[in-house]
Amino acid sequence: MEVYRKEYAEKLDRIDALHPFTNKFVKDDPNLIYLDGNSLGMLPKTTPDEMSRVINQEWGKGLIRSWNEGWYQRSAQTGACLAKLIGARPDEVIVADSTSVNLFKLVYAVLKYQDGRTRIVSDDLNFPSDIYILQGLIELFGNKHELKLAQSMDAMTISTEQIKGLLNHQTALLTLSHVVYKSAFMYDMGQITRMAHENGAMVIWDLSHAVGAVPVDLNKSGADMAIGCTYKYLNGGPGSIAFLYVRKDLQEKLQSPIWGWFGQNDPFAFDLQYEPSTGIKRFLAGSPPILSLSTLEPALDIMLEAGMDNIRQKSVRQTDYLVSLAEKYLFPLGFQLSSPRDSRQRGSHISLQHPEAYRICKALIDSETGEKVVIPDFRAPDNIRLGIAPLYNTFAEIFEAIMQLKQIAEEKLYQHFSLNRDNVT
Ligand SMILES: *Cc1c(COP(=O)(O)O)cnc(C)c1O
Repeated sequence: MEVYRKEYAEKLDRIDALHPFTNKFVKDDPNLIYLDGNSLGMLPKTTPDEMSRVINQEWGKGLIRSWNEGWYQRSAQTGACLAKLIGARPDEVIVADSTSVNLFKLVYAVLKYQDGRTRIVSDDLNFPSDIYILQGLIELFGNKHELKLAQSMDAMTISTEQIKGLLNHQTALLTLSHVVYKSAFMYDMGQITRMAHENGAMVIWDLSHAVGAVPVDLNKSGADMAIGCTYKYLNGGPGSIAFLYVRKDLQEKLQSPIWGWFGQNDPFAFDLQYEPSTGIKRFLAGSPPILSLSTLEPALDIMLEAGMDNIRQKSVRQTDYLVSLAEKYLFPLGFQLSSPRDSRQRGSHISLQHPEAYRICKALIDSETGEKVVIPDFRAPDNIRLGIAPLYNTFAEIFEAIMQLKQIAEEKLYQHFSLNRDNVT
């Protein structure tokens, strides 16, 4: 059938309204198919110029004067820009620190505010770092809290009933990834938040695999707090600064555990007594990394120009297309889908399971195997994650990647590779 041919993929690219956006990214290597935008997004062409302007003009010429010419406001200003992508008001988001540190700050704030409540709920599909942060805080608070993790039955999804079953009037906090990092399973944010609120629990959403991949409406969902990183679908660059959201009416009620001068009401008064800043700024700690911050706005601009709803529409078409090719070409070769089949229940990456997943990933990345280098990522024990970033991935790339997977499995080309694991997979 025509659908399973390369010409069909090329036709889909020709009629794709977002296709011109692929030119906004550095895609110099015609032999590279990059399907790892959910781990580290590609470099926007405008980013090096903006970074060089900040270095040469703002730092080189402006020197310390630049703090008064924009730097001081930049965390809040970039936060306001990001707020548009996640359905938040401009004064509800700041960029600061890493995702893990932001989670630490917010979990601390919740446990302090919800003093007397002793249960914390999450799930076993959550990103391990998030669980570590919870474990560390439980210890810091004197081991008074119990951590309850909903257990996935299929290593892919968690039902609403499972979360409901763990929530009670002792629950201080529910924290979940909106889109799960391995399977791409997506929670119904509004419904889960309501369930938590019925029990008096607060919710922190981790948006790391959601922001820039699916439309998020924090205000409409009634969400309390959220965190997320910017180097995945937001293309902010390696280790780029993370963000946090606190709903307006909660900001004055919550306290950051790090009483640094950037979170002080008037840092340049140099008063010796800490007084928390009004609003979201109280969650800042120290000087923001201005150079790292400078990569974010050019990347966000591209996303806002494309429009989150358009990005989602293309993402659904591309991931559905990928799954239908996988069904035809890969399932007969021992691959299984380990993401929800229904696009309404998943984000923008697709996980495939195969007993030889690790060596298949090695073979995909190797330049000697097949026509192109395909970069996916591997998640232990047997997941191949294919991240689809609609801003720069094409239908033709998806087709070619699937064909290469087919060839590697059919001809057992993975047998040429060692089973030894690299440090970063
Ligand atoms: C990527 C990711 C993080 C990253 O945390 P950092 O502290 O920024 O390294 C955290 N949580 C989730 C769910 C992620 O996917």
